[in-house]
Amino acid sequence: MKIICIGRNYANHAKEMNSAVPEEPVFFMKPETALIKNNQPFYLPDFSKEIHHEVELVLKISKNGKNIDEKFAHKYYSEIGIGIDFTARDLQKKCKEKGLPWEIAKAFDGSAPISEFMPLSKLKSSEKINFHLDINNKTVQKGNSTDLIFSFNKVVSYVSKFVTLKTGDLIFTGTPEGVGAVSIGDVLDAYLENEKILSFEIK
Ligand code: MG
Repeated sequence: MKIICIGRNYANHAKEMNSAVPEEPVFFMKPETALIKNNQPFYLPDFSKEIHHEVELVLKISKNGKNIDEKFAHKYYSEIGIGIDFTARDLQKKCKEKGLPWEIAKAFDGSAPISEFMPLSKLKSSEKINFHLDINNKTVQKGNSTDLIFSFNKVVSYVSKFVTLKTGDLIFTGTPEGVGAVSIGDVLDAYLENEKILSFEIK
């Protein structure tokens, strides 16, 4: 399986990063070794002094597809969860300055904690999905899928032009504003609507 992440998909996050709002989706990938499941802790790596949290809605691909038309894209995912796109912001900044790829800042082991997935049909709306992240019981990021620059269907369609999507692949759909650094001892709790579905500690 593979993990595809969309960058700058909420205007207010692009703004806080001093980045332009993109005209087409921007995506990058993480390897399977980035996953952390079952609320296992995240260990701060020694190669970065600035690991940022980015809470994101995550789609699970349910059917193989290539060159998927946007109007059929909804048939290619049926479950949603929450993930954290951990980012070594200090390394990412250096990569950006030098025009280098972002892998060392985005794709490192443990950089993608994920929740369990639930059927989209169980949510009261599959279009207006609220989610938020609390750190030590204080809300730091809050998003709603209606604020996405590129919708779920647009993202699935766009990515599938370049990369064949396979059953079980995950798509991190982008983070709202409020990203920031995590520290040892922090407890991260992520909520889909008002249900806590991800909870783990930074070690
Ligand atoms: Mg992200």
